[in-house]
Amino acid sequence: MSQIKDLSFLESVNKSFNLAAEAMDLPKGLARQIRTCNAVCEMKFGVELNGGYEIFTGWRATHSEHALPAKGGIRYAPFADQQEVEALAALMTYKCSIVNVPFAGSKGALSIDPKKYSLEELEHITRRFAQELDKRGLLGPGINVPAPDMGTGQRMMSWIADEYQKLHPNEINARACVTGKPVHCGGVQGRIEATGRGVQYGIQEFFRHPDDLKSANLEGNLEGKKIIVQGLGNVGYHAAKFLEEEDGALIVGIIERDGALVCEEGLSTEAVYQYKLEHGKLEGFASGRYMKKGKEALELPCDILIPAALEGVISKENAPRIQARVIAEAANGPVTFDGDKILREKGIFIIPDTYLNAGGVTVSYFEWLKNLSHVRFGRMDRRFVEAQGAKIVRLIESGIDKPLDPKAKADLLKGPDELTLVRSGLEDTMCEGYQEIKEIHSSNPKIKDRRTAAFALAIRKIADIYDSMYL
Ligand code: GLU
Repeated sequence: MSQIKDLSFLESVNKSFNLAAEAMDLPKGLARQIRTCNAVCEMKFGVELNGGYEIFTGWRATHSEHALPAKGGIRYAPFADQQEVEALAALMTYKCSIVNVPFAGSKGALSIDPKKYSLEELEHITRRFAQELDKRGLLGPGINVPAPDMGTGQRMMSWIADEYQKLHPNEINARACVTGKPVHCGGVQGRIEATGRGVQYGIQEFFRHPDDLKSANLEGNLEGKKIIVQGLGNVGYHAAKFLEEEDGALIVGIIERDGALVCEEGLSTEAVYQYKLEHGKLEGFASGRYMKKGKEALELPCDILIPAALEGVISKENAPRIQARVIAEAANGPVTFDGDKILREKGIFIIPDTYLNAGGVTVSYFEWLKNLSHVRFGRMDRRFVEAQGAKIVRLIESGIDKPLDPKAKADLLKGPDELTLVRSGLEDTMCEGYQEIKEIHSSNPKIKDRRTAAFALAIRKIADIYDSMYL
């Protein structure tokens, strides 16, 4: 799947990187050093299943080690290959840098169709994969920390954590060897929704910049804006749900594997999601019009198109027909390099993946911090903050000589819990990242668009680190 019509996924990522590097003044060879994938390991391992052995192929690419641990998800997909893993690892390096998460990029994949295996078999395979990663130094809280990605989830992360803990019983920080774990196994509140939540915060931030809105031919806020989302997996589902239910956007199209649903009045993301869970497809859903050729729905007019599935879905083939005003890249690499060029010429505003889908790794960073500190966020200060709030309420009430409005009072009296803190940290991260990209865009006339600006921001920060390293 990484072989897309124009360039391969990896070539696309590297070309976008080069465009940014050429607009910067870097010491000779440094751009190449930053761009090059440091190491990639292919593992073939046998797993005893159903009285016989099955051989699996997996990869873990460590794109960079300028900051440790290296971080990035593990993908379970039948089409996974080494090049795709390398491209995704590179994107991890850049996205961590853009949102000031102090990790380098890594990515892993296992060539497998998880739907073909029982839960027990998947556990066995995942534990074996964890052993392989561990014995090659590709797993550990200070060296390489996987997370969920396409085809993997919380449960698999808890198996990896457990396996690592068994292999390293003396490692006090063992649980920090992987993120995206269930909360009862050392995970953090808000991690499941984090990438989708980050997409929502990134789009909200875009709406706070009138000049950006103007260049996308938009005005106002998210209320009533027409959105088409491709992919109702973890990322697409949460992003669409929050934008619809909390910001009042209209989800006028949802594209899935079997086809698309379109409805000018707006679909209920939750209802479509539940229907898909039950029936495994969108066809037959009670409202909206079903289109068998789902991919064509990418080309329908809308304010914001959110590709939240695979890489390379917008290429030079369909880019000329895209009518969205904004493309919010929730997936990794959904637009190819050649497709990107066409979209830019058409004046479509792109909020790039290296920034917009960084919410997942940002909250992974919070989880890792929680694991290292061995304490839940808010545990030490919640009551203290509540006591401070109570003092403020007393002072105000005695000053105005009447009780405060009950809602305002309740807000002041409530100390933050873990979910509130995670959301607040994520929102702050997404706002800051957007502003930093915009700043580098406006300060360098050679940089023409936000994708290039995002790459330039990553390169500048990594170059600064290399500058103080002795190689
Ligand atoms: N797989 C996610 C991504 O592509 C999350 C990675 C992580 O949390 O380390 O960003």
